[in-house]
Amino acid sequence: MPADWSRPVDVDRLADAGETRDFDAELAVFPRLADQLARPGARARGSLSVARERRLPVVDVEVHAQLPLTCQRCLGVVEVPVDSSARVAIVPDLAAADALGSDLEPYLAVDGKLALRDLVEEQLLLSLPLVPRHEDDAQCASAGAAREDMGREGARGEPDEDAGAPVTQKPFAELGELLKRKR
Ligand SMILES: [Zn+2]
Repeated sequence: MPADWSRPVDVDRLADAGETRDFDAELAVFPRLADQLARPGARARGSLSVARERRLPVVDVEVHAQLPLTCQRCLGVVEVPVDSSARVAIVPDLAAADALGSDLEPYLAVDGKLALRDLVEEQLLLSLPLVPRHEDDAQCASAGAAREDMGREGARGEPDEDAGAPVTQKPFAELGELLKRKR
């Protein structure tokens, strides 16, 4: 992984150099994500390409991972695949974020500095399902059975009618809310 990716770097400089960084990192290096994982050891890999667009630094973030999460139905481990990419514009203020086209996600960096790791972590957090669960009942049953002798808290007999399309978090919803409030 890039040596400097956990400390703030000047993205303008990276944009002017047209830098691309590949990474392959243990998920433990992402502090906000790490405590949501059901077990350690999984990795994320991908790349960050920085260029300049409409005078702003724009980072193409691509990330691939298998996140070991806790199934909310059987409390076993469910592996959630993430194959995510986004185009993120680094903006100095909300006005600049507001002026972006819909193809770019804003990321606020007041002094133009950010840790590339944080961009990757943001992308991973946005990819988390709100309610992680096995898609297939059979997988749930086998993960549950393995826990049988550890107590029955996994068997909740929850109805299945809400097991439709997975609800995902809206990208950069927080910033969207901020913008709305400003208007
Ligand atoms: Zn399950």
